[in-house]
Amino acid sequence: MTTWQRRIERAEELARVSPVYPEVLNFYIEIAKFQAKPPHDLGALKDLIRRSAPKASGAVDGADPMHAFYARVIAQAEAEARARTAPPAAGVQPQCPLCGEKPVAAVLRPEGDGAKRFLLCSLCFTEWEFRRLLCPNCGEEDPAKLAIYTAEEFPHVRVEACESCKVYLKAVDLTKNGLAVPEVDEIASVVLDLWAGEHGYTKLQTNLFGL
Ligand SMILES: [Zn+2]
Ligand SMILES: [Zn+2]
Repeated sequence: MTTWQRRIERAEELARVSPVYPEVLNFYIEIAKFQAKPPHDLGALKDLIRRSAPKASGAVDGADPMHAFYARVIAQAEAEARARTAPPAAGVQPQCPLCGEKPVAAVLRPEGDGAKRFLLCSLCFTEWEFRRLLCPNCGEEDPAKLAIYTAEEFPHVRVEACESCKVYLKAVDLTKNGLAVPEVDEIASVVLDLWAGEHGYTKLQTNLFGL
């Protein structure tokens, strides 16, 4: 199964079982189907968005954000295609070692008895290893200042927040749910972003939908 098929199937499953915001996932499914099939025609994308964008999405506000959204949909697909042919990425920086963008999420992957933490690029979806106890925004490394919050609805997704700079990102924990697809589960767990926003935290990097 290709990465795109896995994403689409995971989003379909989450839209069925997720009690909140299935319309965002349904919209994501349409976008992912478009991204999966080059060449990426702007006219086709505009038609698709006119048909399927949820009204609540930031993607339908005004002309300028809309244009940025089209550009991002296409740039994401093309950056990922380029990243697939690049040598494996390694880095200790909080920006993507391949394209320089910020991470949209962290990923915890099983390693021995524990887990290793990776950051997931918001543009090309490259993953690179990153220290467990280190804020990717300000470099805070005091465990007492690095908070973790979870919610019952998404036991395998957690908010990793920094009390020094008040920035957070979500981590998808594959040791708790091996079926999760980080970039899709990140979108599905928007309820955690709402919670974090209400508690004074700012997201390190919003996802494609501005969430
Ligand atoms: Zn990247
Ligand atoms: Zn910080």
